[in-house]
Amino acid sequence: MTALVLSGISASKGIGIGRARVIVAGSPEVPEYLLEGDQIGPEIERYRQAVAFARTELADVAQRVRGQLATELREFIDAHLLMLEDDMLAEGPLEYIRSRSCNAEWALKQTRDGLIAAFTAMDDEYLRSRVDDVDHVVARIQSALAQRKDRDHLGEDRLDDAVVVADDLSPSEVADLAERGVRALITETGGALSHCSILCRALGMPYIAGIRQASEMINEGMLLIVDADRGITLIDPDGERLGRYRDRQQEQQRRHQRLEALRGEAAVTSDGTPIRLWANGESEKEVDLAISYGAVGIGLYRTEFLFMGRAEPPEEDEQYEHFRAALEHLEGRPLTLRTLDVGADKQAPLGQDPNEPNPALGLRGIRLSLRFPHLLKTQLRAVLRAHQHGPIRLLLPMLSRVSEIRAARELLAQCAEELELDASDIPIGGMIEVPAAALLVDQFLRHLDFLSIGTNDLIQYTLAIDRTNQALGSLHDPLHPAVLKLIARVIECGDAQGKSVSLCGEMAGEPRYTGLLLALGLRDFSMHPRVLLEVKEVLRSADITELGKLRQSLLQAEEAEQLEALLPLS
Ligand code: PEP
Ligand code: MG
Repeated sequence: MTALVLSGISASKGIGIGRARVIVAGSPEVPEYLLEGDQIGPEIERYRQAVAFARTELADVAQRVRGQLATELREFIDAHLLMLEDDMLAEGPLEYIRSRSCNAEWALKQTRDGLIAAFTAMDDEYLRSRVDDVDHVVARIQSALAQRKDRDHLGEDRLDDAVVVADDLSPSEVADLAERGVRALITETGGALSHCSILCRALGMPYIAGIRQASEMINEGMLLIVDADRGITLIDPDGERLGRYRDRQQEQQRRHQRLEALRGEAAVTSDGTPIRLWANGESEKEVDLAISYGAVGIGLYRTEFLFMGRAEPPEEDEQYEHFRAALEHLEGRPLTLRTLDVGADKQAPLGQDPNEPNPALGLRGIRLSLRFPHLLKTQLRAVLRAHQHGPIRLLLPMLSRVSEIRAARELLAQCAEELELDASDIPIGGMIEVPAAALLVDQFLRHLDFLSIGTNDLIQYTLAIDRTNQALGSLHDPLHPAVLKLIARVIECGDAQGKSVSLCGEMAGEPRYTGLLLALGLRDFSMHPRVLLEVKEVLRSADITELGKLRQSLLQAEEAEQLEALLPLS
């Protein structure tokens, strides 16, 4: 017997097996009616109370959830609380009630539709996905207006062995379901970048988003296999399939336990060479995660995320507080702060032309910071002040000429003088992301204290492959011989001048490339904290001496396929 298979977007990997619990609520009708003059005041008050109630309800969720889950959830609850406090939702509907004499539910719907239209029109995929957040917060206020409790239909029972099938889920609902033992989630809407997906990944909860007809095809109680590794759900599978999936699930659990046991182990190759494993991160939460996975520090902190999704750039004080908090969480471990890398796929309105014809080749990274030096100065002042609380390393993105390093150094010296602070113990590093930087690395190194290879962009610019163009995905190839030559060259030149070279692109966190990068001489890797143990597992069984012997042959390969004959890459 073959099972019915539904496919969707793999939003959080893993396999979950259980009985369906279908909680599709559908959107309730929003009532619309006109008010008499003397009803306007009380309606405004009713709306205000609903917002206050929504706030209390969210705070309650935060209270109910404990431990690791609470840390993961805090960021989302905070974001939703902020939205509830923001004028656009706290005050916007009041304007509608006053000017149109309409009821609060309708006023909220009008405000919501306006906001969604604005968000949907944005170019940035991440910001577009914030539409979900607006909807979750609006749904919470609508429920409060209707005096419905938070997802009443979920009940209070344990949901062990259940797979929840929903139209949509908010992060707080995900946290609640995880606490109650749910095995996997399926939603009809959503995508890989939604907050729900981010939270599921952080919790290790298998999740498939975007199975549009899930609630029509799946009935309460049906047996489901959620294979979120492949983005498919099997309905009522036969015994043989079920057996195979249970074996796979057990294998994954064993692997998980094996990796967990490595947390306290040293990152040393089998022949005794220590390797430094750094983490990439851009929030306090990721800093905590990095430490819990044993990272030596943060190897890449993308500060541009502080600038995105807002109309005005953050002031010096806000940046200072943010960096200081990260340093405090790091407890003495180094924080590698990359200066603003806005542009191309990461947009923020900072005065550049929003209709730049070719943004990946445009005003991005250090070029933008030097075109608008007040932006960089504000950031450097915040860095200098934060450095009083812990070790910062400064990293310059998208370098393509030595003069950019000089200019950034001059601005740092100016800021240090203005603040009467010492900048001399802040190491300055450069991202190697443009072939020009890789070719001129010897000259660059005279002015830099360390290097970090950004392979995401280095591959893009070396191979002329737009990294955001999904149709070209397989051509964005880390194994291209030209890319490997540049990486090897940068490491070699860094070693020759006694300066450390790390690699912080996605490639560093792919365990199948760990042996290859060790063979090319890499000793500092920076990656998402969650993949750190997998990389550690590979390097602990690697023999550096043997790998080193492959270096020359690896660099002679004409095609990526030839590499596989020298060392396993899958
Ligand atoms: C890179 O280009 O490899 C990199 C780490 O920077 P980002 O992905 O932020 O462009
Ligand atoms: Mg980059």
